Amino acid sequence: NDAAGLEALQYADVARLLPVPGAESDKYRRGVVGIAAGSARYPGAAVLAVAGALRGGAGAVRYVGPAGDAVIARYPETLVSDQGPKRAGRVQAWVVGPGAGDDAGTVAEVLAAEVPVLIDADGLRLADAGAVRGRTAPTLMTPHAGEAAALLGVSREEVEGARLASARELAGRYGATVLLKGSTTVVAGSEGGPVRVNSTGTSWLATAGSGDVLSGLAGSLLAAGLTALDAGSVAAYVHGLAGRFAAGGAPTGAHDVAEAIPGAWRDVA
Ligand code: AMP
Ligand code: MG
Repeated sequence: NDAAGLEALQYADVARLLPVPGAESDKYRRGVVGIAAGSARYPGAAVLAVAGALRGGAGAVRYVGPAGDAVIARYPETLVSDQGPKRAGRVQAWVVGPGAGDDAGTVAEVLAAEVPVLIDADGLRLADAGAVRGRTAPTLMTPHAGEAAALLGVSREEVEGARLASARELAGRYGATVLLKGSTTVVAGSEGGPVRVNSTGTSWLATAGSGDVLSGLAGSLLAAGLTALDAGSVAAYVHGLAGRFAAGGAPTGAHDVAEAIPGAWRDVA
C-alpha cells in the first residue's frame, strides 16, 4: 500500500552481498559473532541461535550465557565463555535476547558494546530505549508482530494492518534498523529510505525457534561486515529459502531450517 517506499529484495542483490572469505582471510577477519541468549528455562534458543550463526559467514561463534553445556554438546566448534559479554573477548557483532528470560544485565552490557548489535525476543522487552538510541554502532531489532506491538504500545492487529508503517515508526523511535517478521518480512533502515520486503519464506516457518535461527544468521552477517540493513535483508532472504528447502511442502522444525541454510546459500551464490 506504499509502493513508492518499497523495495522487493532481489536474488542478484543478495548474491552480491553474501560474504566470501578472501584467499588471505582468517577466522578473525571473517568476523566473530557473539551470542548472548538462552536461559535455564530456554536453553534451546541458545542452541538454535548458534546453529544459525555458524552458517552465516562469520569465522567464529562465541557464546555467553547459562546454556554453554547444551551449546557445546551440539556444536563443539563454539567458543563458550562463562564470563559476561564485557569479558568474552573479541566480538565483531552481538546477538542478544533469544530465550534470554529476564536477564536485563546482559542486555545492558551488550548494548554498551561499540560493535553492531542484533536485539531479538526477550532482549526487545529488556532493552532500555535510551540505551538503544544512544548507541554509536548499528543496531538491528528483529521483532515479530506481537513484539513490535508491545514496543509501540498498540495491538498486534494494528501492527499486522500497518506493517511498513510500524517498522518505520520503530526504526525512527529507536534509531535502529528494524526487521519486522511475519508472512512477509519488512526491513526498515535507521535512516529512513525504502523499506525492503522479503517473501522467500513459507508458512511452515511458523514454528517454534525459527526466529532464533534467523537471529544467529543475521548476527553472523553483521560480524562479517554487512550493514544492518543488508544483514537483515540477506538473512531474511536466505532464512526464508532455507525454510522452503527444509519444509519441501511438509512440516519442519527450526533445527532443520538451520541445517538447510548452506543449501539455500549455495542456491543464491
Ligand atoms: P519467531 O516468531 O521469532 O519465531 O520468528 C518466526 C520466523 O518465521 C520469522 O522469520 C518469520 O518471518 C517466519 N514466519 C512466521 N510465520 C510465517 C508465515 N506465515 N509465512 C512465512 N514466514 C513466516
Ligand atoms: Mg522469536
